Amino acid sequence: MAEVLVLVDHVDGAVRKPTLELLTIARRIGEPVAVHLGAGADTAASTLGEYGATRVLAADAPEFGGYLVVPKVDALEQAVEAVGPVAVLVPSSAEGKEIAARLAVRLGSGLITDAVDLEAGDDGPVATQSAFAAAFTVKSRVTNGVPVITVKPNSAAPEAASAAGAVEPLEVSFGDAAKGTKVVSRTPRESTGRPELTEAAIVVSGGRGVNGAENFHVVESLADSLGAAVGASRAAVDAGWYPHTNQVGQTGKTVSPQLYIAAGISGAIQHRAGMQTSKTIVAINKDAEAPIFDLVDYGVVGDLFQVLPQLTEEVESR
Ligand code: FAD
Repeated sequence: MAEVLVLVDHVDGAVRKPTLELLTIARRIGEPVAVHLGAGADTAASTLGEYGATRVLAADAPEFGGYLVVPKVDALEQAVEAVGPVAVLVPSSAEGKEIAARLAVRLGSGLITDAVDLEAGDDGPVATQSAFAAAFTVKSRVTNGVPVITVKPNSAAPEAASAAGAVEPLEVSFGDAAKGTKVVSRTPRESTGRPELTEAAIVVSGGRGVNGAENFHVVESLADSLGAAVGASRAAVDAGWYPHTNQVGQTGKTVSPQLYIAAGISGAIQHRAGMQTSKTIVAINKDAEAPIFDLVDYGVVGDLFQVLPQLTEEVESR
């Protein structure tokens, strides 16, 4: 059966959820072979095997952490040469997209970004993309070389499928460009203790109705009572009330949690583009005609400054 390379997104061997989604989607077009770059391959291997990786090609070198993306592109290029895969899948993160673009140039092949699904076709894998704020579904295929495809987070629920996941060393040599940009320092973002927005099972978002940075604590309190991530509409972000890293929507992040709570958000198409695939949607808005109510499973017509604290109190009392 054809093999599919999957670039592993991990922190010292702790595999991040988007990789499990990639392994699940990869199985629709072939046998996943994980490519683990950096420390922790032995730790990662059991998780990768549980989600269907038949083998784990592992390489560790100081270059992966000490320089920007080019060493990873070198390693993936050599993995492609060694395996001859039917496709290379990379998470649709900022780093993933840069790696994918550079790899496609190296391989002289085609690139598809932000795929939400893959299926096997007679002439190679066919990717599904959601375009123009989900108004269109596009199916496309790379016609030249090994397809390099980035897959959006939350495109599939990770499904376990036991496979060997045996670690095999990947011999990697680095080209001159690998050391072109050195990392001189790293400043981790201050942890909020909340889950990552794109990976959270519950997201509570605030919009213009929150009416100021100083009021966002009502959104945060509800999020904390539920163990949720905090999101924001672009209106709230543009007003400087919440960081852009928390923006949900077309020009922000795409989330697909089990539960999405929108407070003081009207439901513009660009916001919907980032959250409409959430499993259950709840909105709190004081305008009964707000378009967000066309989309919701449960809607509360009311003032968020009354509804959110009551909801938080109720959740905390349970
Ligand atoms: P509004 O549309 O102003 O809605 C505020 C809502 O709050 C209203 O419905 C009001 O009834 C309600 N409200 C007010 N006070 C209260 C209260 N006390 N209690 C309860 N409800 C209250 N937007 C995004 O969100 N994400 C994106 O990624 C994004 N990308 C964009 C890209 C482009 C190219 C463009 C053109 C626009 C983009 N937008 C995006 C902006 C989008 O069009 C909307 O302007 C934005 O989503 C509106 O944010 P909002 O719903 O918070 O504000």
